[in-house]
Order: sequence, then C-alpha cells, then structure tokens
Amino acid sequence: MLDLDTAGDTPILREYRAIKAEHPDAIVLARLGDFFEMFGADAETAAPILGVQLTGRGFGAAGRLPMCGVPHQAIAQHIRKLLDAGQRVAIWDQVGEVVSGRLVRREVTRVLSPGMVVEAELLDPSAVSRCVALVASHGRVGVAAFDPNTQHLELFEVAGDLDGAVVADELARLDPSEMLVEDGTAIPAGFAAIAPLTPLAGAVFDTTRAEERVRRATGAVSLDGLGVSAVPLALRAAGAVLAYCERAHIVISQELLRIAVRTSDSAMRLDAHTRANLELFSRLGERGSSLLQLLDATRTPMGTRLLRARLAEPLRQVEAITHRLDSIAALLDDRDGRRHLRESLSGMRDLERLVARCVQGIATPRDLGAVRETCAALETTGSVARAIRAGAEITDAAARCRAPDGLRERLAALLCDDLPATASEGGAIRPGADADLDNLRAAGSTARTYLAALEASERERTGIRSLRVGYNRVFGYFIEVPNAHRDRVPEDYARKQTLAGAERFVTPDLKEHEAIVLHARERAIAREQELLAGAAADIAIRAGALADAAAAAGTLDVAQSLAVVAEEQHWVRPTVDPSSNLAIVGGRHPLVERMLGPGRFVPNDLEFDDEARIVVLTGPNMAGKSTFLRQTASIVLLAQFGSFVPADEAVIGVCDRIFTRIGAHDDLSGGLSTFMVEMAETAAILRQATERSLVILDEIGRGTSTYDGVSIAQAVVEYLHDAPQLNCRTLFATHFHELTVLATHLPRVRNARVEVVENGAEITFLHRIVPGGADRSYGVHVARLAGIPGGVLVRARQLLAAQERERPLAGNGEHGSDQLTLSISDPRPNPVVTELASLDLDGMTPIAALNKLAELHERASM
Ligand code: ATP
Repeated sequence: MLDLDTAGDTPILREYRAIKAEHPDAIVLARLGDFFEMFGADAETAAPILGVQLTGRGFGAAGRLPMCGVPHQAIAQHIRKLLDAGQRVAIWDQVGEVVSGRLVRREVTRVLSPGMVVEAELLDPSAVSRCVALVASHGRVGVAAFDPNTQHLELFEVAGDLDGAVVADELARLDPSEMLVEDGTAIPAGFAAIAPLTPLAGAVFDTTRAEERVRRATGAVSLDGLGVSAVPLALRAAGAVLAYCERAHIVISQELLRIAVRTSDSAMRLDAHTRANLELFSRLGERGSSLLQLLDATRTPMGTRLLRARLAEPLRQVEAITHRLDSIAALLDDRDGRRHLRESLSGMRDLERLVARCVQGIATPRDLGAVRETCAALETTGSVARAIRAGAEITDAAARCRAPDGLRERLAALLCDDLPATASEGGAIRPGADADLDNLRAAGSTARTYLAALEASERERTGIRSLRVGYNRVFGYFIEVPNAHRDRVPEDYARKQTLAGAERFVTPDLKEHEAIVLHARERAIAREQELLAGAAADIAIRAGALADAAAAAGTLDVAQSLAVVAEEQHWVRPTVDPSSNLAIVGGRHPLVERMLGPGRFVPNDLEFDDEARIVVLTGPNMAGKSTFLRQTASIVLLAQFGSFVPADEAVIGVCDRIFTRIGAHDDLSGGLSTFMVEMAETAAILRQATERSLVILDEIGRGTSTYDGVSIAQAVVEYLHDAPQLNCRTLFATHFHELTVLATHLPRVRNARVEVVENGAEITFLHRIVPGGADRSYGVHVARLAGIPGGVLVRARQLLAAQERERPLAGNGEHGSDQLTLSISDPRPNPVVTELASLDLDGMTPIAALNKLAELHERASM
C-alpha cells in the first residue's frame, strides 16, 4: 500500500495531503461530486465502521490508494457512525461553483467530534451534548463545560484529584459527550467509560491565552465582571474549550455565549450510586420506567432537556424550591390555563437548536420555517402564561416568552408555506417577496413557455407529427426525430445524439432559450440562497433574545409537566423548610406504585426530628424494606427538585445530600468484591455526610460473616448516632435483629419493622411499616416461596432448630430470635472514646489538640 506522504502528485491528491496534514487525527471526508470519499488509512479505518466496501483508486504516479465512499445525501448517518465509534471527522467540502475542467475549490467546513455537534440530525433532542475540559493541579480540578448549541459555558473548581469522588459525581451530572485534557495528564481508569477523551497540547491550556480567548469570545474588555478570577483552573479549561471550538469551526456568538461560574452550595451533589439506586435516569431492572420517564410530560425539547438537567441537581435553597412548587400549585389550580399552555407549547419546535443552526450558518429553509412557527407559538404561550395567576417563576418566564418584534412577520412574508428540505433546488421564497427573484423567475418562465410551445410549432414547421422536445441532464434541451422521418429534418437542426430508433438535435434558437432558462434558474437559486442567509443572519442577531425565550418556554414546560404528573399520580405539595426534620405521612414509592397499578401499593409513614435521628428497620426478605428506603430518598429528592411528592403529607427539612448504600453489587472490573464495595461505599458516606444529610443504608454487613457483619453494622449505627459532625437522618435496614436492642441504649435510635402475618407455615407480607423490631427473619419461608425443593427446606428447618437449641438466646430486650444471635452486652461505647476516634488530628493545630485533650480528660474524669 502507498503511504500518502510519499504518494505522487495529482492535483487533488496534493491538496488532500495538505488537508490531511492539518487534520492528522480526523477522518477527512472529501467531497468528490455526489460522494464523500476517504483515502488511505482513513478509508481503512472508516470502511468497517461504515459497513462500506474498501476499494482502491489510481492517482497517476502515486499509484493506487485504498479508498471508500458514501453518497453525499446519506452523509449525516455516516458521520453519526464515525462519531459513535469515537472518531473525529473533518468535512472537506466543495465550495463555490463547479466548473468542468477546473479543479473545484474545497475547504474544510467543519471538524466534528462527539462534543462539537450542532447538526440537528446528529443530536439527541432530549439530551444536552457537552464538551467538558478538565485541568488538574495541586489537589484541585478546574472544569469548563460547554454546550456548543446554547453556548452556555459553566465553570467551577473542586478540591481533589481527577480520580476523586467529587469529579466523578460532577461528570455524572454533566454527562459529557467529549472530554478535553492536557496532553500527558494521567487519565483515571474510569474516564474511558464516560466519554471519548481528547488530549490537547499544553499551550492550549495556558492562562494568558485563555484570558485572551474569553475576552474575545465575550467582547468584554476586562474579565473582572465575569467572576472567572475565582476559578483560575476552570478559566484555563475554558480557554481550551474555546480553542477547540475554533478548530471545529463552531462560531462563538456574543449574543448567545453565557459564562456562569458555579458555586457548590446551590445544588445537591448526587453520586452515581444514588442516581442508580433511585433510578433517576435509567431503570435498575427489566421492567418499569425511570423517574425521569415518569416525570416527563413535557411538550418541547427545551422542556425535556431542562427536566433532565434539574433532576441531575436538586436544589438546597428553600426559596428556590418554593418558587418551583408555587408554579405547580398555580397550574394545578388553573385547569384551563394549563390546558392552553400545553396546547401552545406543542406548537413550539426546538428553538434553542434552531437558533444555534442559524448562528452557525447551517440552517435549512425548513429550520427558518420552524423559527417562524415557533415565534407564533412563543407569543401564544407567553400570553397564556401571563394570564395564569402564579408565583415568581411563571410570571418571570411568561414575561420572557416573547418573539422579537416583527421577526415572525418578516419570515412569513419571505418564506413559502411548504418549504423544501434544502436551498439547492429553490422554491423556498414566496413569490412577491423579492423583486429581483421575481424578475429572474419571470425570465426563466418566459423561456420555459417558449420551449413548451416549441414542440407544437416545430411539428407544424416540419410536418413530423412524432417529433418531440425533451430535456436530459447531460445534453440539456433537444428535439427528437424518429429515424423514419430522418429525411424531413430541417437544415438548421444540428445533430447531438444518436439513439437506436431516433436522432436528437438542437437549434441555435433552442440553445439560446435553454441558456436563458438555466441561467435564470441558477441565478434565482443563488438569489434565494442569499435571501435565506439574510433571514438566518436576522435570526442570529436576535439569538440572545430567542435563546432566552426558548429557556422561558422550557421553564413553563417543566412546570406544566410536573403539574400533569402530580395530578395523574395524586401527589401532594411538600412543605420544604430549613429544619432538619422529616415527616412523611402515607409515602409511596413512585415507580413501584406505578408498576403495581392503582390501589395496590401500601403507603407508609416516617418521622425524623431532633429526638429521632436513626430508624433501624427490620423485617423479612421481600417484605418491602428496600422499597421503603428508596421511596424515602425519592420523596426527598423529588421535593428538592421542586416537584410534588407521592405522599399524603410531607414536611421536608432541606438535605444537603442524599447518600444511599443499597443492594449488593461487585466491581469486577475494579477487582473489588461485593463486601469491599459495600465497605468502601459505607466509608465514603461516614466521611462525607453531615448533620443535614439523609443517609439510607440497606443491609450493611451482609457481605461477610454474621459476627463480622453484625459488629460492623452496630459500630456504624453508633458512629452515626454519636459522632458530633453526623447525627444525620438515617434509615438503616437490616437482617440483624440483634441491632434492635440499640434503641434501648441510644436515645435517638427508633426501631421499625415491616409487618408480616403468619398463618401456620404460610406468611403474608403486609408491606406495612410499624414501630418495634422484628423477631424472625422468615428466611426459610422466603426460600419456599422462591421454589427451593421441599427436601432442602425440611433440612434447613432442622438446622435452624438445632442452632436455636445450641446457642444461648441473647435477649434483644423486646423479642427472641430464631436467627444466629449475638450477645450485645454493652452496646454503647463511651462518648469520649467515640469523639476521640473521630478527631481529625491532621487538621488540628497543636494548641487546639491540647485544649481538646484537656476537655476530654475532664469529661472522662467526671
Ligand atoms: P430483601 O431483604 O430481600 O432485599 P426487601 O424487604 O428489601 O427484600 P423489597 O425489595 O423492598 O423487599 O420489596 C419486595 C417486593 O415487595 C417489591 O418488589 C414490591 O413488589 C413489593 N412491595 C414492597 N413494598 C411494597 C408496598 N409498600 N406496597 C406494596 N408492595 C410492596
């Protein structure tokens, strides 16, 4: 095979080599006529991805090169395949006129990579596609997350390393399509599973260049007002993103670009386990739906994306949550208003992305038509929303939901009602909209009329009744005479083409009119393209206002969606307050309830206050412990996300975080056992939780021996209860009935159990949570329900009875136990010891340590 670098020099190949040298890491798609072709190593990489035949082509002295191609009409689907395979793609397109015999001018018009996509057909309408750059230095990570469509650039910094938990949680929230890092950065193992990673030269991350790029992009003379000086690492990351946009030929619009420096206290950080356990975005099992699917009754793509973004970061500020809840309440009260709002939102297209395509200069005539329709929908949506008596959020969104003055009228006057998919064939501009275009069309049409009449006049003139005037793409217009009448062909006919039974001719007159028709058509199309580009520019100038209106429509859409769901699912408005209480009456699990169908889910209550911080929940397998744990977390999350909740009543003291340790799973790829994963997750919770957190722990200690397990479980409960920085609201589900005794020693621990009705060998799960501890595990009963053979069950019962005889029953104070029972003689450790164990010695000054020591000594001596 030939190496392109040493290949010979046909003109096209010489140009191609130069382009390839500029884009060595991209697959170059070269437009040759109706095809996009790939050469050399690019062709070899792309052919199997695209499922097309790898062929070869001769290039003069350069010899044969591997090659493959795809038709230009189908280019979008092929680019998608290449991007999905993690490839970057450079489009080397024909620009300007195609003149036969002359090399067509070509330019790289776009460099597409997974995070740099603005093309409608390549984007998922329900998800934001972001490019995220990361800079790590001295125990901090700076992040710049950029959506090339809305041009929102989010900057923030976190303490830790690239492979730390905070970065992982933030990346899970941002869900990047592509990540940029400095060349040579040590990449954490988990990154590969998140998104394709693009290393860029260190210079791109340089601070001075970054400042210059941000200044240029925003048009700001000074960066002071942007707040970026507080996040110097994120600023460097922003510089890299902007440089990358330039390379991708993404136009940065001052109208659209919004730089937001994010602070950490506004939103609730969700870790990957909690997202997964609460099934926020995807289901855990085969059946049912995710919470996002349950909540999604949106009518616009802006609403769908906003709903997802909000669910990824619930709020922590009571006021902001209350605004969102007010909107739902207002829409529930105003049925008609809500119905009108839904109807008008339905007429809205993906304005955010339509505007983005106008800014990038790739809008099609139909995109412009969609802006026209959406302007009308904006006006009706705005006026419907203004008529709803609602709180600040809806009032503000209603005011912003406006189309720029006169834009819809201008587009309506310019564009035809039915628009073609592309501007290449004309037919997009309304007659009467432009005098020049009308003249060109008229000139073409006079000549076309002449050509249409020519057949009749030539038949008359020559007396050949079977003569016909036709047109084909290669020869243009012609007069066709069957061979039988060849002798009657007039002198002025010039032969053009010979067919089996006929000859085709042209005349000077015919050529002249043909030229008029073709020329007029070409110029008319060019004029149409000019007018369309003008209209797109008109929209691009108003991109800021339109994007703001689109965002307002998204806000209204999310509010109506949540109102619809609240009504359908019989949810109630939670009271969210700054306390650290939690009181739920008649709480339900939103997804399990839906799966079971109406009336089958058993609602349950829960209460935490200053006196009750930990609930130890016992009950047999399959009784509904996990469901209760998850529903509690889901209700808190829904409330802080700003939604009504599945309960009869709910008072929720705002949580700073929700931690969930639920279910057994192992991390085989990370080489960790189920128990190790369980312990690592528990450790992370004990280290990170605060007294404002909600902690959900399911079956801690299950993955090891009973003795180890119960000891660890007990120690965890004690630590959560006694460590001064914790004392957080904790729901602790366990099989170890021994732990119910803790409630008698630890004042803020309460016992709860799932009720079961026993009828001889039969048990019925009531799924009702009641105070007190469970006394039996019913493991053997559950084994029977699961279909374990009778012989095995009989033997298991014998062994259980023997265990009960052999081991002394250590009373748990309330109930006996038929499970392997451990003695918990002095379950309450000395608080001085607990506090001593929890001290952060590294973080203390010597004097603080001495003072603490004196204090502990005094307490111990009392
Ligand atoms: P294990 O200890 O084996 O994990 P568990 O006690 O955690 O079991 P869950 O997984 O919560 O039990 O519930 C088992 C099944 O019981 C659920 O799939 C659901 O169908 C049903 N269920 C749970 N809670 C309720 C409820 N409140 N109302 C009706 N059905 C319920």
